[in-house]
Amino acid sequence: MSGLYDSHLHTPLCGHALGTPREYAQAALDAGLAGLCFTDHMPMPRWYDAPWRMRLEQLPEYIAQIQAVQQEFAGRLDVRLGLEADFHPGTEKFVEQVLNMHDWDYVIGSVHYLGAWGFDNPEFVDEYEARDLGQLYRDYYALVEGAAKSGLFDSIGHLDLPKKFGHRDPSEQAALHALDAVAAAGLALDFNTAGWRKPVAEAYPAPDLVRAAAERGIPFVLGSDAHKPQEVGHRFTDAVKEIREVGGKVVTYKGRKRYD
Ligand SMILES: [Zn+2]
Ligand SMILES: [Zn+2]
Repeated sequence: MSGLYDSHLHTPLCGHALGTPREYAQAALDAGLAGLCFTDHMPMPRWYDAPWRMRLEQLPEYIAQIQAVQQEFAGRLDVRLGLEADFHPGTEKFVEQVLNMHDWDYVIGSVHYLGAWGFDNPEFVDEYEARDLGQLYRDYYALVEGAAKSGLFDSIGHLDLPKKFGHRDPSEQAALHALDAVAAAGLALDFNTAGWRKPVAEAYPAPDLVRAAAERGIPFVLGSDAHKPQEVGHRFTDAVKEIREVGGKVVTYKGRKRYD
């Protein structure tokens, strides 16, 4: 684990994570990581997904909490501060304003909604039965392309997220098209090990897409997507092996700049 960073981590401010930021940092230290970057779910307009994220007025508290951990762990663990943003058409201006409120280290752009459907929420999993999977993935990857082209983000979060409960993409076409857009925009991909803890039992992105991304020169940022301290650094040794086997590169971000 030496030299590695976990760059996808949440805090209780989002309302669905456990443990204090300092407990996440201690877990990173115990796991032998070099650093971590908190990327909690960012504030969005009040009508969007409100129970699952911090409110705008909590943003200063988030920044202060992470800065306190930065100071406490200085010299032992490199603690960085970012956000997991949502890409949802119509909210781009709001997102841009929040991103301008602080000098973030790293911003992940994630698609969690198709229209009003939060497709990664276990409560609404029945909706998959009502959908054509091919169309679902085409719609989803069109949004990912929009996220890549928006210029707002450093990486794309959990690329093939709709597979979470086992509903796999029947075709790779839309995903490969999205990867072309990610490469053209110079973004990285969140190599998200949470998928290994979900029903699909596969990291995001799937091995074939990891290979296709590496072939396009797209680098990877390691993320556990931890919502509790015990998940920090989850299966990073496996992740790095998988990435390197296909010639991929692992990077981190600081001050929104990429570092090898
Ligand atoms: Zn979350
Ligand atoms: Zn996410």
